[in-house]
Amino acid sequence: MSKKEWRFRTRAVHAGEQPDSVTGAAAPSIVPSTSFVTHEGDTGFTIEESLETAPFLYAREGNPNVRQLEVKLASLDGGETAVAFGSGMAAGVAMFWHFLKPGDHLVASDVCYVGVAEYMRKTLPRFGVEVTPVDLSDLDLLRAAFRPNTKMVFAETPANPILRLTDIRAVAEIAHERGVRLVVDSTFATPAVTLPLQLGADVVAHSLTKYLNGHGDAMGGVVIGSRADLKGLREEGVAHGGAILSPFSAWLILRGLVTLPIRMRAHSENAMQVARFLESHPAVSRVIYPGLASHPQHELARRQMQHPSGMLAFQTPDGPATARKFAKKLEVFHYTVSLGHHKSLIFYISTSELQSHSFQLDPQALARYRSFAGDGVFRVSVGLEDPEDLCADLAQALA
Ligand SMILES: *Cc1c(COP(=O)(O)O)cnc(C)c1O
Repeated sequence: MSKKEWRFRTRAVHAGEQPDSVTGAAAPSIVPSTSFVTHEGDTGFTIEESLETAPFLYAREGNPNVRQLEVKLASLDGGETAVAFGSGMAAGVAMFWHFLKPGDHLVASDVCYVGVAEYMRKTLPRFGVEVTPVDLSDLDLLRAAFRPNTKMVFAETPANPILRLTDIRAVAEIAHERGVRLVVDSTFATPAVTLPLQLGADVVAHSLTKYLNGHGDAMGGVVIGSRADLKGLREEGVAHGGAILSPFSAWLILRGLVTLPIRMRAHSENAMQVARFLESHPAVSRVIYPGLASHPQHELARRQMQHPSGMLAFQTPDGPATARKFAKKLEVFHYTVSLGHHKSLIFYISTSELQSHSFQLDPQALARYRSFAGDGVFRVSVGLEDPEDLCADLAQALA
């Protein structure tokens, strides 16, 4: 059987890893060296783009741990190549500048990760890129947003923090009819849940900091796609941009990825139980979870997501008061930001703060956001603990 035919869990374990050719070590070693001795009498500094053949010379241009990680990530998402970065934001910023230039127009999810939302609205326009934020769950709004200079559609699905979904296949078709590239931030889903490239997206981006590492102890980001599309991204974004992933973080994330398929199944099962518990709790006014029949896009979730993932959102009548109770009383959950850890995390996201700092939605878009979030939502990243303990912890804190 060739490696190309390996199934998903086999690739999660084996892709990118082979025994050390000198020592025979079966597990990857961490290689912190900044320089790699060459015996070829090299005299130049070309940056090799190929993951398979590049020799190493200077660590900003390539490192064995980062290379192993990139091969595994490309394999899991079914892309030809992958370029890893020191954070999800670094990957996103490098990706924007790789595909866009002054005078270009970007159509992007109006609701997405706050760092990306702010960068799109505050920084890209300063350098001459026009940005139109759109609710990509409405295909008519998407169709109306294109201009002659539109070069990219950027979708985040499920979208942070309201778990609104984008139909990747439908959006890819609409974008491609107009010769426009579709990039998907699939951080909330991971390749164990959705394979955007298979659904027609051209490029997929992830924060590695979340589920892909899965243990809350390393930051990273990645961009995955075809060699032709990503040609030059490593040189410009990593070697010149300097946004490298450290060998130690790459080693941790590589190790985390081995259990991604079984973790995502367990996160999803736990989240389903927590979502059902919250939906039946009298102090909770609304639960948003793609796995629940009450999610407005539940049918799309069933088509596009192999598991509903571990992220959910819920409302209580007085969010800020509940947030103060949670921060004091929760014992299993950590009241904090971020997501995708083995531990359960919860954080309140106020609609008015998000609107004034990050989203700046027009009145119609704000009404659409509020139809999911009301005055604010608790964003919950359901971890790998026993779900009965998670529900009991929420019950005692809500009491
Ligand atoms: C966290 C996150 C990012 C940014 O990643 P960092 O690793 O924190 O820089 C981008 N997109 C989504 C959807 C995220 O959740």
